[in-house]
Amino acid sequence: MAGLFLLSLKHHTHALRIGGRLLSSMPKKLLPVILIAESDPAIRCLVRDILEQDGFLVKEVGNGCDVIPTFKQLIPDLVILDMNMPDLDGSEACRQIRGTPAGLNVPVIMMIGIDDQESFKTAYISGATDFIAKPIQRVLMSHRVHFVIRSSKTMKKLQFSEARLLDAQIMAKLGSWEMDLVSGKIQCSDEVYSILGWVPDGQSRSFECFMNAIIPGEKERIAALMKEALKTGSNFSFECSIVATEGIEKIIHCKARINRDEKGEANWIVGFFQDISERRRAEEEIRRLAYYDTLTGLANRTMFSDYFNHAVSFAMRTKTLIAILFVDLDRFKLINDSLGHSAGDKVLKEVAERLRASVRKYDYIAREVEHIPEAEITRFAGDEFLMLLKNVRNYHDVGKVVQRIHDSLSAPYMIDDTEIIITTSIGISIYPIDGENMEDLIKYSDIAMYHAKRQGRNTFKFYSQCLDTSTRNHLELEGQLRKAIKRKELLVCYQPIFRAPGIDFSGIETMVRWQHPQLGLLCAERFLPLAEETGIITEIDEWVLAHVCRQIRIWQDRKDPFWLVSVNISSQNFKKRSILDMVRSALETTGIDPRWLKLEITEGVLLGSDPYVVTALESLHEMGIRLALDDFGTGCSSLSCLNKFPVDTVKIDVCFIRDILTDSDCAAITSAIIALSRSLKLETIAEGVETKEQMEALLRMGCGKMQGNYFSPPLMLAELEQFRRETMTSNR
Ligand code: C2E
Ligand code: MG
Ligand code: MG
Repeated sequence: MAGLFLLSLKHHTHALRIGGRLLSSMPKKLLPVILIAESDPAIRCLVRDILEQDGFLVKEVGNGCDVIPTFKQLIPDLVILDMNMPDLDGSEACRQIRGTPAGLNVPVIMMIGIDDQESFKTAYISGATDFIAKPIQRVLMSHRVHFVIRSSKTMKKLQFSEARLLDAQIMAKLGSWEMDLVSGKIQCSDEVYSILGWVPDGQSRSFECFMNAIIPGEKERIAALMKEALKTGSNFSFECSIVATEGIEKIIHCKARINRDEKGEANWIVGFFQDISERRRAEEEIRRLAYYDTLTGLANRTMFSDYFNHAVSFAMRTKTLIAILFVDLDRFKLINDSLGHSAGDKVLKEVAERLRASVRKYDYIAREVEHIPEAEITRFAGDEFLMLLKNVRNYHDVGKVVQRIHDSLSAPYMIDDTEIIITTSIGISIYPIDGENMEDLIKYSDIAMYHAKRQGRNTFKFYSQCLDTSTRNHLELEGQLRKAIKRKELLVCYQPIFRAPGIDFSGIETMVRWQHPQLGLLCAERFLPLAEETGIITEIDEWVLAHVCRQIRIWQDRKDPFWLVSVNISSQNFKKRSILDMVRSALETTGIDPRWLKLEITEGVLLGSDPYVVTALESLHEMGIRLALDDFGTGCSSLSCLNKFPVDTVKIDVCFIRDILTDSDCAAITSAIIALSRSLKLETIAEGVETKEQMEALLRMGCGKMQGNYFSPPLMLAELEQFRRETMTSNR
């Protein structure tokens, strides 16, 4: 017979009468639901009454067969079963409840006759949670039900938090273990099994099983560590690599505490065990990105300072040297520009590989049984690589390695079926000879590399052997000089040329100056040799010529009296074939009368047999521009060759004038130059006249035109104009 349903779960909103109170407004979830199965209606009624009085929702069935369907429908918080029901007894009903997924953890109280000892056992075996003896006593029943429901709630909470803990452990790949130090047996959680790849079999494992999982090289370390911990009794932790089943290598972190018995003897170890392989891999990847170059796989410059610091400690300890090699590919830009960046990348990878191979130790050992410096390689930037050699005894050690690297990098590269030859320039600085800190040493190796490039590339240079302080300054200056024009740091000054003995203006010579931001006003001699060496001179000449022509334009527009203005021109303008375009452009832009202009060239221009020089000089002459041969006597040209060129003026170099009164050779040369020039109908101008006596000596020799500090040093524009006004007035 179907039981009397006091509650239908599908109709939870119905008003319920419990213990005489209307409970429609109570949250139903808070009311525990109890299913009673009892074939005796009187007892059933009694139990219901007791429970309703206590505020429970009760549902009752009158026979065992109805228990499971009702249970499934209701999922009660507690089931009370009578042990002896005619169709299905309580123990069988309990077994069936335990057989359902929801029934595993629902508490079941079995009502058993007080004398029925056998049924207590049967009920226990079938999975009953507790028992209550018949006849039912009101108070006992009430307390028992409350107690079981409370325990069930606690159990549920415990199960929930256990499940959460397990989830967390699985997610963290964290397992716990305990080891009995007496038996040497280890009990561990499922996660430990999963980390080790073992099948959980409920059996404890021996300590040896664990030790066998650790990779051979680390076993001894861990064993020693544990032995020490047992001796001292302190907690311990370690990381080690293990080989899980199927040969998978993992890194684990283990932390443990040692327990002691009452006598203070270590008897138990508890700990956890975590698979940190993924974390290690992620850390390794982060490290790789931070310290290594992604293209070549070489260390990057951040890593270099680590290498350097270690190498310095080693060098100090062993009294050895460190070599820093700055390796730069010559004209690498050409490869990128002509073959594309992907080809450029391939070259860089190949270069990195060759660098690695050229310092690989076993290669050396195979070839030579000698002292071998240890090498670290980094990609410094673009096509620049830095190498650090440590354990270096002398320059010879370094020279051998560098030669090897240089040879290896010079072999042809096959990139996308194209054979490429790349040469390399290498600069080397040595710790502690050239410097002691990393920045300086890198800078010096860079300078030495630059020096190697300037010597025609494809070579290597030691910093200390080829460079001194002045060269270093020189190089710094070069960088600044390249920017000087753009930064408007160049100036033009003017030195008047006179007809001696008076102060009759014959013309002016322009000279470039550099207003250096730190070094102040630099005369041409301080920076033009560098400009010549680096080729910047042609840009400077172009700028000076344009500037001077604009000034001539102003004088012409002002209708100032005629001034012949001499501009110095470097021989490089002839080598680069830029002279004619440069002059034409300056004349066209300013529209000046070319007869105001004289160009001073040095003897070097006339040396050799370049037909362009004659053509260019003739074209200039045809334009109406005059030409002077500057610093005459310092080169190796002879006066006799002068008639081949359309030169108007010969300027006697300052070095002859300086010693004209004291050195008879200087006097004789000066005198000869003047006489021969006159015979060739060339004008002579003496430079660097500093005293009245020098002037008089020159006049005696027949040279009337002069310039020099005796008359006037080179002047700024305003000073020149002022000076001219004054001399004109005094001449009148
Ligand atoms: P330079 O053309 O023979 O110029 C004469 C040099 O002698 C100038 O030096 C001038 O300052 C210096 N000087 C003038 N009077 C005296 C004197 O009384 N005593 C002594 N000891 N020296 C005197 P600066 O300006 O240093 O020029 C040196 C050289 O640089 C010039 O020799 C010229 O060859 C070159 N130079 C100057 N300006 C330019 C330029 O704009 N372009 C090119 N290509 N070269 C220039
Ligand atoms: Mg000159
Ligand atoms: Mg000169």
